[in-house]
Amino acid sequence: MYLSVALAVPLHRDFAYSISKEQLNDYPIGGRVQVPFGNKKRVGVVLAVNSECEFDAAKVKPAIKPLDTAPIFSQELMSLAKWISRFYIYPMGEVLSAMLPTLLRKGESAELTALEYLHVCKESLAKISQSDLIETFKRSKKQAQLFQYISSHPMLLKDAKKAYSPSIVKGLVDKSLVHVNLQTPKTNTWQENMLLGEKKRANPEQAIAIASINQAEGYTGFLIEGVTGSGKTEVYLQVIEEVLQQGQQVLILVPEIGLTPQTVKRFEERFGNVVAVWHSALTDNERLQVWQQAKHNQMAVFIGTRSSVFLPLAKPGMIIVDEEHDESYKQQDKLRYHARDIAAYRANQYNIPLVLGTATPSLESLHNALSHKYRHLILAQRAGSASMPTQHLIDLGGQVLDAGIAPSMMMRIEQQLKAGNQVLIYVNRRGYAPALICEQCGHVETCLDCDNPFTVHLSAHNLQCHRCGKFEPYQHSCKKCHSKNVSTQGIGTEQIQQILAKRFSDYSCVRIDSDSTRGKRKLNELLTEINQNKHQLLVGTQILSKGHHFPNVTLALILNVDSFLFSSDYRAPEKLAQLVTQLSGRAGRENKPGEVWLQSYQVGHPLLQDLVNNGYSHFARTLLSERIAAKLPPASYQAAIRVEHTELAPILNFLEYAGQLLGQFKQLEFVGPFPAGVEKKQGRYRFITVAQSNSSAYLVKAMQQAKEALEKHQFAAKLRWIVDIMPTDFS
Ligand code: ADP
Ligand code: ZN
Ligand code: ZN
Repeated sequence: MYLSVALAVPLHRDFAYSISKEQLNDYPIGGRVQVPFGNKKRVGVVLAVNSECEFDAAKVKPAIKPLDTAPIFSQELMSLAKWISRFYIYPMGEVLSAMLPTLLRKGESAELTALEYLHVCKESLAKISQSDLIETFKRSKKQAQLFQYISSHPMLLKDAKKAYSPSIVKGLVDKSLVHVNLQTPKTNTWQENMLLGEKKRANPEQAIAIASINQAEGYTGFLIEGVTGSGKTEVYLQVIEEVLQQGQQVLILVPEIGLTPQTVKRFEERFGNVVAVWHSALTDNERLQVWQQAKHNQMAVFIGTRSSVFLPLAKPGMIIVDEEHDESYKQQDKLRYHARDIAAYRANQYNIPLVLGTATPSLESLHNALSHKYRHLILAQRAGSASMPTQHLIDLGGQVLDAGIAPSMMMRIEQQLKAGNQVLIYVNRRGYAPALICEQCGHVETCLDCDNPFTVHLSAHNLQCHRCGKFEPYQHSCKKCHSKNVSTQGIGTEQIQQILAKRFSDYSCVRIDSDSTRGKRKLNELLTEINQNKHQLLVGTQILSKGHHFPNVTLALILNVDSFLFSSDYRAPEKLAQLVTQLSGRAGRENKPGEVWLQSYQVGHPLLQDLVNNGYSHFARTLLSERIAAKLPPASYQAAIRVEHTELAPILNFLEYAGQLLGQFKQLEFVGPFPAGVEKKQGRYRFITVAQSNSSAYLVKAMQQAKEALEKHQFAAKLRWIVDIMPTDFS
């Protein structure tokens, strides 16, 4: 017999391995197998078992051993993988591998492993009198509490050490009152731990949304377009409750940065210890554990970032994509999937509701809602007593700026600080200044690998290239003419923080960007400090726009919106409007009204006027009709061929051939080659050709044929190139 095996190698084909007839039942389809490959061993997944082999049977090697006794990919997950492989034109073996936690990819056991539990020791207990027992615990209340808890349920040793302390646990164990036992965790357990906390009284808009979702039968897509602070999370909580009561699980996708403990806490408070969390800071072991909790139905609610969309839910009941517009849902390397699209596919597959929520819908989802592919639920009011912030433009023309801030804005900042409020200032650049210039000869210190000016960093006291990460010591003199007359040009977060801290020295000014928040814990610490009002001025990059709740922020200032207006990327206005609206959403979230100011040299620009006067929802509809008129996505579908190399000629030669191939498809148009937004990085030039069609199926088929032909091009092996289906970014 022959196994057809998918291996994580960059080839669009399966591999055959032989087994004996007796072994047939040891190799389930959808289970992993260890096989020889070259002179190494590899982990693959069994796709099929055949009695014949399409390859030369004499050359087929025997499989080494099965790694699973039962499939780890259910039939649904297998067909999901097949669809992903076809749609994203990516080898099946690599898709399956991307769907697994690292440890399973490496061949570790997928079985539930026994864990250490604390049990009450019945024999010791029988020997001890009640009064002696009371006496033993006289000096340790904590031990008594823990003992009492364990008497009613065995507890994970790890959890007990965390909830109490290792010494309290040891104290109990030393008294022989409890002992540690290895036990395999039970499956289907979350219902025992589920609580149903008190819910808020839904306002009328929330009530309609909740009822519509609860009434859905089978697959229905919903788009909740709810202004910031309109109580979308409360809607999620209430519809999730229904699903849990049916004994089903829920997957909630969240953007990477939005995954703050506050969010998770809200779910835990409502539903108890049935919430599992998946994000990039988990260890490999923790990921495997969450994967098992999904597969064995040990947890009910899974809150996770992009790759959690592959979790093997045993009893899927609903998929929610929060902040569905967020760019982090699109993977930007290797398998370039969009988690929102995969979520939709899965919901359809399992015939369960899909709920997308955001204040700033992507034009893709808005298009689906307006064309009735999704049901459109609108929350136009803020929940509770908070009102929407007002938005204003300020003309920078002719003004003398300090720290990039107009004088009248400085006064407003001062007023708000004096009134005891917090102020948020958004800047699109981290570091001190985006360039270091020689005033004598005009030389700009540049990263030659990227043709990109170095950014000056004050706290690290160096020059950094924001494309490749390379850094150099700070220069006090010009490298070219040796003049000491060098100065920084432009402004970044560090400089604004420095100037504002000096100017408003009675207040604390905190900086929030990827430099100041390295490590997940750091960001959470800063957010907590902000909510404790330890800082009054918040200066930062787009991290500040991501769903945080800052009840005391009454003024948000957006320093420079103009760069978005003149971008060659047709998605730039959409991204700008999302950023502005999400930043606005941080202001005035409780009783104090908020205001938002956008500084610009282009205050008459129709896009800015529309956004400020009519708000995101009007703006997005205008933008959508423009895209439809121009036949751009979401009215059509795009795919990009991206190529990188140290030399330009082979790139252009390759993409010229790509153009010839694409030109043969009648229902497809293409543009390119053109340089990527980041034209050079780490010594490599980057070029793109973009194809577009009215039919996604036609596009994918054409790209697949083009890819096959391109693989035979003379430079195919030399260049770094990929096909990106439905690209969201051309940088
Ligand atoms: P969103 O997810 O849309 O940003 P949240 O669900 O976080 O909004 O709600 C914003 C604030 O309003 C929260 O403090 C929340 O507790 C409160 N809230 C939500 N729904 C209600 C309601 N029906 N009644 C009173 N307060 C509510
Ligand atoms: Zn010089
Ligand atoms: Zn560089």
